[in-house]
Amino acid sequence: MVFSTQHLVRIAIVGAGRVGATCAYALLLHNLVSELVLISAHREHAEGEAMDLGHGMFFEHPARIWSGDYPDCSDADIIIIAAGAAQRPGESRMDLLKRNAAIFQEVVPQIVRYTRQAILLVVTNPVDVLTYFTWKIAGIPSGQVIGSGTVLDTARLRYMLGQYFHIEPRSVHAYVIGEHGDTQVVPWSLANIAGTRLAEYGKLNGGSLNERARIEIANNTRSAADEVIRRKGATYYAIAAGVSRVVEAITHDENSVLTVSSLVQGMYGLSNVSLSLPSIVNRTGIAEVLELPLTPSECDALQHSARTISAAIKLLDMS
Ligand code: NAD
Repeated sequence: MVFSTQHLVRIAIVGAGRVGATCAYALLLHNLVSELVLISAHREHAEGEAMDLGHGMFFEHPARIWSGDYPDCSDADIIIIAAGAAQRPGESRMDLLKRNAAIFQEVVPQIVRYTRQAILLVVTNPVDVLTYFTWKIAGIPSGQVIGSGTVLDTARLRYMLGQYFHIEPRSVHAYVIGEHGDTQVVPWSLANIAGTRLAEYGKLNGGSLNERARIEIANNTRSAADEVIRRKGATYYAIAAGVSRVVEAITHDENSVLTVSSLVQGMYGLSNVSLSLPSIVNRTGIAEVLELPLTPSECDALQHSARTISAAIKLLDMS
């Protein structure tokens, strides 16, 4: 696949609920798509979303938008999968697993019936398990199957650290790795502002980040989705912004480093599991998963996270 100014970028979104429709809106606002097709079990709802999005085009960028079906995937460059049930208040992402795996068992074969070239971008939760599941069902190269993973958690962490240090999030360099869920890991040893590790940054510039503050920020990052869901029933704006950032890295062939989820084989003693690590994203999908100089305790925490995801993969009998 070659993206160029001549190339029409077609994106299909499977599941046009709150997340799918908001992803569509974000892609249009960022001028990242020329052909946008919404595919959903709830056909009439997808039609309504396509109409509403189309009516806003006058204020955005020209694009062809329609509600369609799986044959429309045949020319798609990227297929975003946001189909499935959302978390109920108090429900863990893993509780969603069986409900959403059944939906993927139906959706993924339909996609690959029409294309084996597109990049599949999985957003439905539990995203790491479903990224692995999608790769297994689709039988396409693992670099073509990307989970949104901890893209959003990393954004939340940087937002919170930015608030703590009174610095905008893009100037904070820190990652959330592992599971998009309860066992996610913040490798604090690598977190920095202006190339200065956070502990030292605090000493030199004020706002020192002690152990207590670190734990609180990591906990708030981990529980951020629950806090939003408790108040408004679902999260969709921030994930849509994150998905559109991943799409941008693909369509612009950026080689950007993003904490997306993908198959990890042979790093940190892990194999046959999908989870998030900083990865190079370009027009091929995941070009490379990066190895980090983690401390032994960070490495242990990552392995614990991987074991949790692997246990869920085993529940699906897919390992
Ligand atoms: P929603 O209920 O609003 O929408 C789900 C959509 O999926 C509906 O339009 C429904 O018609 C469609 N659907 C269901 N079964 C289908 C099938 N078999 N084929 C095609 N379409 C089907 O839910 P939502 O709030 O949009 O959330 C969607 C998913 O995204 C959930 O699993 C949620 O947990 C997840 N999510 C992930 C992240 C992340 O960071 N990865 C963030 C927020 C939400």
